[in-house]
Amino acid sequence: MTESKIKFHSGKNIPLEMHKVRIIQKLTLLPVEERAKAMEEAGFNTFLLNNKDVYLDMLTDSGVNAMSDSQQGAMLTADDSYAGSETFNELHEKIKEVFGTEYFLPAHQGRAAENIVSQYLIQEGQVVPMNYHFTTSKAHIDVNGGRVEELVIDEGIQVTSDHLFKGNMDIDKLTACIEENGKENISYVRMEAGTNLIGGQPFSLANLRDVRQVCDQYGLILVLDASLLQDNLYFIKVREEEFKDVSIHDITLEIVDLCDIVYFSARKLGFVRGGGIITKNIEHYNNMRELVTLYEGFLTYGGMSVREMAALTVGLDETMDFEMINQGPQFIEYMTEQLLANGVPVVTPAGGLGCHIDAMRFVDHLDQSEYPAGALAAAIYIASGARGMERGTMSEERQEDGSETLSNMELVRMALPRRVFTLSQVEYIVDRITWLYENRELIGGIKYVEEPKVMRFFFGRTEATSDWVEKLTAKFREDFGDSL
Ligand SMILES: *Cc1c(COP(=O)(O)O)cnc(C)c1O
Repeated sequence: MTESKIKFHSGKNIPLEMHKVRIIQKLTLLPVEERAKAMEEAGFNTFLLNNKDVYLDMLTDSGVNAMSDSQQGAMLTADDSYAGSETFNELHEKIKEVFGTEYFLPAHQGRAAENIVSQYLIQEGQVVPMNYHFTTSKAHIDVNGGRVEELVIDEGIQVTSDHLFKGNMDIDKLTACIEENGKENISYVRMEAGTNLIGGQPFSLANLRDVRQVCDQYGLILVLDASLLQDNLYFIKVREEEFKDVSIHDITLEIVDLCDIVYFSARKLGFVRGGGIITKNIEHYNNMRELVTLYEGFLTYGGMSVREMAALTVGLDETMDFEMINQGPQFIEYMTEQLLANGVPVVTPAGGLGCHIDAMRFVDHLDQSEYPAGALAAAIYIASGARGMERGTMSEERQEDGSETLSNMELVRMALPRRVFTLSQVEYIVDRITWLYENRELIGGIKYVEEPKVMRFFFGRTEATSDWVEKLTAKFREDFGDSL
């Protein structure tokens, strides 16, 4: 575990929050029998649970990060106007200061920025090489006639590894991909910070420099998806020797300087809701500007409310403060290491965004056709009241002949929205997942009863293939007595 700067006399090494809680939301924890019932009613799909039945909502980090008092305060004094709002000017100034770029186009969320960048840069039949895809990024590339090529280093898709930068691009594969397809058939090269789908894994700044060099060699545009940049910045500072004494702001400036276009979801970066595209190149700016007015709104709000823009201005400033951004990755590392110590299979090393449980090994008695990650996500809710997200075969689409596309990894992601949960809540979820692991043979499979063709993981409903839920619930009662 990363050595904390603040030492405990007891010798304990636990992450210490550098903030206090000033607004709270009451939570409820239902008894296990009611959790089992809620899960069955939700078709064993954690997306279909009602939040009132959830104790710890670990579904996602999107739009659910806690705001600071300064952010909330700024929302009250936002300047409400359609055009020329002073709040937009302040946000624009902050973007220039934080990222060192002149031009900024606002958008209502990350995928809206992806829509604009993809429409602008992709011609039918072109290839977009990238470290790894994200669901909405790939969808927009596909819709515009492009094709994704994933060129992450081999360690990136190994569940357990000690590679500190599993989000790195394989530079040899990148060069080979450009040579094979011809540089005129490459729309742009895409790097994703804090690579989401492989466990919030970072790239190193050294790797980004190498990617830039290849782009320069072939005259290609480099686009950065900075939605999860916050965690990636933390990892560069604590894991990359060259940057240990460099400020988060200086690391940010170098990253952005290496890229031609940077876009982000402010649902993650900046702790608010919104998004945007930044560039130092006026030609890119002018070409994308019209798309913003067509799809998002006028150039001084782009689909965001002035209140969100005011909170984003403060949130970006806070993102440059190491003590404001270290809590997420440190809690995730703590949770990962506690689970590992208890023998529970997890993705290593710990990344950003959340702790990722390896369902392939957790429920190794289940065939992939019985959706191990989906079944485990349901079982975790029943055992704890916490909901995570299936990231496995259910998150893939079927082949044209109706057969399953078996996922490389079967993961359950337990997201840790930033600054939201306390360490005792992390201890609780570690405890319940450990109990579940010790009783893992009780977890059975699930099968579809309602299966939408597109994005089935959002709306699909399944049922248990046996009476395993009753058995798991009964065992919980036996072991925990009348505890919730
Ligand atoms: C969340 C996310 C997006 C999409 O952002 P939304 O605001 O949800 O539309 C794009 N890329 C990455 C890496 C993300 O994590």
